[in-house]
Amino acid sequence: MVVLTGAGISADSGVATFRGPGGLWEGQRLEDVATPEAWARDPARVWRFYQLRRAALATVAPNEAHHALVELEQRLLAAGARLTLVTQNVDDLHERAGSRSLLHMHGELAVLRCERCEARTPDREHLDPAAFVACTACDHPRLRPDVTWFGEVPYHLDEIARALADCTHFAAIGTSGVVYPAAGMLAEARAVGARTYVLALERPENVNAADEFLAGRAMDTVPMWIERLRASAGS
Ligand SMILES: [Zn+2]
Repeated sequence: MVVLTGAGISADSGVATFRGPGGLWEGQRLEDVATPEAWARDPARVWRFYQLRRAALATVAPNEAHHALVELEQRLLAAGARLTLVTQNVDDLHERAGSRSLLHMHGELAVLRCERCEARTPDREHLDPAAFVACTACDHPRLRPDVTWFGEVPYHLDEIARALADCTHFAAIGTSGVVYPAAGMLAEARAVGARTYVLALERPENVNAADEFLAGRAMDTVPMWIERLRASAGS
């Protein structure tokens, strides 16, 4: 099984969602804080923006949907199957809930990366919005958040493609399903004959008759969906 999660699952934990009203992200235009060009032009502004988001991780906790996905993973493993959990979210709520097989396709707030030598450092301690963090590997004075910005290539694409190529079930949770990469993953899963599920607030346009659609908040629909899977598997 492959499960893709997006902003909707984090929103239920109180994480500020990616695209707010008017295309702004916490009052900032995306092109000012989430592109390589913004980083090159005004690294202090971008750093401050991400440092505030990194600090905010400590103020949120996994919700029922994150916990239910952990239970699903454990049940599938016990049955000799496998769950690949792919998330577009850069928060750490899935791993804090206990998910193991997790791919952060857009990177992680809790990791910093050297813009010179590419060394990655898990970091939850340096949260001062006004102080850059130096690389311990090469002494470069400035690490960047290890997230993929607009215009950058997402992570783990090969691994995701392999998981999709032999999946029998695919679910998109809390993501529109219309925008890439979610739309592409849904199409790939359909192409290999997987049973597909979309759990979202509103029915996306690309949901077709082959899909099962559950409307509602992730924290409500995910536990319900997983319970239904369990019942239909007879376990
Ligand atoms: Zn370095």
